Amino acid sequence: MSWTRNVRQVVPYVAGEQPKETDVVKLNTNENPYPPAPGVRRALEHLADNSERLRLYPDPDATVLVKALSDVYDVPENMIFVGVGSDDVLSMSFLTFFNSGKPVLFPDVTYSFYDVWANLYRIPYEMIPLSADWKIRKEDYIGKTNGGIIFPNPNAPTGIALDTGDIEAIVRANPDSVVIVDEAYVDFGAVSAHPLIRKYENVLIVQTFSKSRSMAGMRIGYAFGSPRLIGFLKDCKFSFNSYTLNWPSILCGKASLENRPYFADCVGKIVTQREFFAKQLRQEGWEVLPSKANFLFVRYPGISGEYLFNELRRRKIFVRHWNKPRIEDYLRITVGRPEDMNKLHEALKKILAEIRERA
Ligand SMILES: *Cc1c(COP(=O)(O)O)cnc(C)c1O
Repeated sequence: MSWTRNVRQVVPYVAGEQPKETDVVKLNTNENPYPPAPGVRRALEHLADNSERLRLYPDPDATVLVKALSDVYDVPENMIFVGVGSDDVLSMSFLTFFNSGKPVLFPDVTYSFYDVWANLYRIPYEMIPLSADWKIRKEDYIGKTNGGIIFPNPNAPTGIALDTGDIEAIVRANPDSVVIVDEAYVDFGAVSAHPLIRKYENVLIVQTFSKSRSMAGMRIGYAFGSPRLIGFLKDCKFSFNSYTLNWPSILCGKASLENRPYFADCVGKIVTQREFFAKQLRQEGWEVLPSKANFLFVRYPGISGEYLFNELRRRKIFVRHWNKPRIEDYLRITVGRPEDMNKLHEALKKILAEIRERA
């Protein structure tokens, strides 16, 4: 007998390492290598000049940020929800929408936070295996009893995207549950399913400022859905914590949204770099999954992923690796600046050459 029996005990999500040294090539957490839009800096300067304002609570509805999202995405304000990064939006969505006792479905290889939230909230879940070529098969999510469905599009860590037609088929076939599409990486070349929110009441589209908008440190996420769906989400949020987004986040988020050319330019540079690097690796014998995200999921046939990960780390190059079935020989590499990718490329060539010498 002990008090610990009454504690909600969970195994937490493990985020990619944030190294203390500054001389590393950091390609492990899918951050954007380019700075946020210049207007974000001006918003921060404005905040510095008006720090007196911090006496007051922030606007619990983050009105100016929601308005800016509404303008950019042409979605009415009552169909928008905002939170402290999409992790906050997603965890609140698990709490709100997955409340049936039936299993929530998500892929076996996917964002490793989903099973953590399911365990935290005591939601039953079932992991649906991806196909042998790492795809989400819409058939697997149709005609199956469930208490909800969630998947990223493009999926992580594979980078493979699903088209809106397949997503629509899943949403249409599951009118009794909420389908959440986690679009953390959608801006890097996939197609957003957000038009579906006007046609289906049960679909929630979640996006973030952390990847394509270079603002992981600011923590801003948002979701689009039917007014009823967003209403339920807000009721839970306002029963949990009213003041989620702080004043700096609200103003910096708005400033970022206002500069569309800068956003397009940064995303374009990453997409170009991704395709260039993927082609280089494939020519040298690597298996590279076709990515629509700001990362590549790669493997060198016959060489252990853990070995490559450790050799890179020794050279102060950080990528992501999971000791999990099916994916233990893969590395997930964030697409960085050209100079970062060159350093990585040179290191990989050296590591492979050393292996060949020893053989
Ligand atoms: C990065 C990521 C998120 C969370 O991002 P936030 O920084 O919390 O906005 C959510 N889903 C996936 C699949 C991600 O890769």
